[in-house]
Order: sequence, then C-alpha cells, then structure tokens
Amino acid sequence: MRSLKVSRRRFMTAASAGSLAAAAKTARARPVVASAGRLAILGGEPVRKNKRWPDWPHVDEAMVAAVAKTARSGIWCRIQTTSGAVAAFEAKFAELLGAKFCVATGSGTQSLHTCVEAMGIGPGDEVITSPYTDPGTIASILAARALPVLADLDRESFQLDPADVEKKINGATKALMPVHMMGQPCDMQSMMSIAGRHGLRVIEDACQAHLAQHGGKRLGTIGDVGCFSFQSSKTLACGEGGAIVGNDEALMDACYTVHNHGTSRRGRTEVAGPKYRMNEFEAAILLAQMPGLMERFERRNRNAAHLTARLRDCPGIVPQKLYAGTESGSFYLYAMTYRKEHFEGASRGTFLKALAAEGVDLSPYIAQGLHREPWIDHIVNSKIYRKMYSPERLARYRDECACPRCDAVCQDLVMLWASGPLLGSTADMDDVADAILKVYEHRSELASI
Ligand SMILES: *Cc1c(COP(=O)(O)O)cnc(C)c1O
Repeated sequence: MRSLKVSRRRFMTAASAGSLAAAAKTARARPVVASAGRLAILGGEPVRKNKRWPDWPHVDEAMVAAVAKTARSGIWCRIQTTSGAVAAFEAKFAELLGAKFCVATGSGTQSLHTCVEAMGIGPGDEVITSPYTDPGTIASILAARALPVLADLDRESFQLDPADVEKKINGATKALMPVHMMGQPCDMQSMMSIAGRHGLRVIEDACQAHLAQHGGKRLGTIGDVGCFSFQSSKTLACGEGGAIVGNDEALMDACYTVHNHGTSRRGRTEVAGPKYRMNEFEAAILLAQMPGLMERFERRNRNAAHLTARLRDCPGIVPQKLYAGTESGSFYLYAMTYRKEHFEGASRGTFLKALAAEGVDLSPYIAQGLHREPWIDHIVNSKIYRKMYSPERLARYRDECACPRCDAVCQDLVMLWASGPLLGSTADMDDVADAILKVYEHRSELASI
C-alpha cells in the first residue's frame, strides 16, 4: 500500500534527483488511495456523496431588488430614457473589457447577425467559422443570407484550425468568425494574421468567453468586433441577452443602427435592419451581477488550474489545450479529451457511467458538428441560395463541409458544465479528479460493466 503522506525528506530526495514531477505525483495521488475500494458502479462507495454544486445562474437579493425597481419605474425599454440600465450596462461592459464601445442586444445570435449586417456582408458573400459551436453562430450568417463556410478543428484545443481556415478562403470570403470554445481563447494570433494577409474582417464569437484574456487583451477586443451572449447558462447571464464590443466608432454606430430596425442614434431610418434591442430588465439583472463578477471569474480560473494539475496523473484524460498567450479563460465549460486506449479500450459511454456512479457527472457536450445537421441540405436546395450562389459553388460547398477532426472531437470529448460547478471549493475539484483517477485505476474492471 502506498504511503498516505509524502515526507519532506522523501520529497526533497525526489526533487534533488530532478524528479519534482514524480514527487508531486505521489503527493497528488493521496486522495485516490483514501477513496480506493470497488468502483461505485460495481457496488463500492462513491467518491462524492450527497453534495451539491453551486447553483447556476447566480441569484441574489440585489438582483431581485433590481428587477422590482425596474418594474416599478415603468422604464422598461431603452428608448424611454437616455440614462437607463441598458446604457449603463453598455458603458460598464465596455470598460470591463477595455473596449471603447458596446451595443447591447437581445442575444448572442442577434449580436453576431448585427455585426454581419453592419459590415455589409450579405448574399453572395462567405464567412468562415467553426462547425463545433452553438447553432446561433451559423444562424447569424444565414440570417444575412451569406454562406457559412466551415473549417475543421485543432484536435487538442477543440478550436478552429488556422491552416484549414486559410485553405477555405476564396474571392467571396469577407470575414472570419472565430469561436472561443468553452470560453478559452482560440488561436487569435494566427486568425488575425490570416485576416490581415487576405483583407478580411474578424467577428469574434466570444459568446462563451466573458472576461477571458489573451496577450493582454480581453477576448472580443482583438478582432474588429466581439460578440457575447448572456443566455442563462453563460458565465454572465440574464435569461436571453447579448452584446457587441468594438473600438471602431463608425462600425459600432452602424451596429447600433442595424440592431435598432435601421434607425440611427440621430433618429433617422437609414438602412434595413431587425429590432434586436436589449430591454431594461435584462440590463438591470446584468448590472446587479457586477459586484462579485471578477471574483467568480478568478475562482473559476483557480479551480480550473487545480483540476488541470490533478489530472496530470491520468494519461487517459487530457484537458483542453490552451494556446501560447492565454492568460485566463471564462471556463464556461471545462473540457477534456477521453483517450480510451488508456482505459483498456472502454468506451466513453462506459467511462461516463462509471464516473456518474462515483457522483461526478461529465457530459459529451455537442453530439455532432453543425456540418452534420440538416440545414446544409436545406440551404443548398433553397430557392434563395440557388439564386445567389452558382450550382458549382453549392456542390463544392457541400464537399467542403466535411470536418473529420470535428467528428473525432465529438466522439471523445468529455466536459464539466462549469458556470456553477467551477465556483465550488478546492475539495469539490478534488472530488472530480479523485473520481476520474479512481475509474482510471480500476480501468481493467470497466469491461465488466
Ligand atoms: C450561446 C452561444 C451563441 C448564441 O448565443 P445566444 O445568446 O444563445 O443567441 C453563439 N455562439 C456560441 C459559441 C455560444 O456558446
């Protein structure tokens, strides 16, 4: 049996032998030994029992009071006042991210669509994005009647692969829409240099990536514009809501005009546009979440770092790769690759079942990439797309949508919903790691499940 305690002397010996990692490994393995025994799914004691994760969305009395105050005020819509909650939230969110301007909207999808329209991108144009994302990403491009071209992923980061993005650029390409999956930065350095070389706009889909930072900049402020979602599950939430941030005043003015049914801040109806305004209730809930927002963000980052350090002991579970320059993530999700070859070939489903029995629920997340959903058939056969794009383009488009690395990611990704759970304690994180390590140590028994 392994010692439950690593003596200082043993640690120093290991360290001086140049084996700090080995010493840390022994130290970290302790809780597994403590919870050893049979797998819970085979009748043993679960690692985590009768414990709850922190609830999400975050709710407190200040939020409830802010909604009540808005209700009583009768000011429910941003155009009833110049000094309401929506305007205050826009100023605050821009300041938090270090952006000059912000336009709040009704959702992340609405934010993305507004940017596509404000950039003058429409029928005949193409925008390159990821197949591994929320359907809202491509919906925003389709709403403008442009063509969402899908590039494949980096297998280890689950983010867009810059090399495949560059391959898919043609004369009709107008913009890149990189997605910061799980709330951690995609390879923005490469995206920006590709966009620069080809004269393309960059719309960052930062809908999962509130406050995350790369190379000294908050995500959403690196491209021409950045879009956020405040849907209930996100790390800053108001039910349904969104925002656009940017530093280009003319472009951000155009975003305001588009999202306001084509009516500019000067009150003139100048262009065609949908009506995507955020309402005062949503902004009041968001403003009431500002105290504590940074603290929650930092806690998620600390917990994620702890989990990542603990998981180094398990070669079969590989946390999401982070690119050089990553300083923090929103950790909307904490995602990992499940490598069944390290679990004696046990399927991901079996692993997840065994883990759930230990009291830790991980999820496979997106079942299949958007390139496998039926919308592609719909648009290549639709009257409107057949009028705007040649038969050759639409035929080639279907072939180009194959994304085998995205398929592989969908097969072996496992993740922890993190908006709430990563607000837990270090002990909560240890439960996750201990459960994974316990299942790993008992991997030879998984075949009998
Ligand atoms: C949530 C999300 C969206 C869409 O945001 P909504 O507010 O739900 O419209 C877009 N992209 C990504 C990556 C998202 O996670």
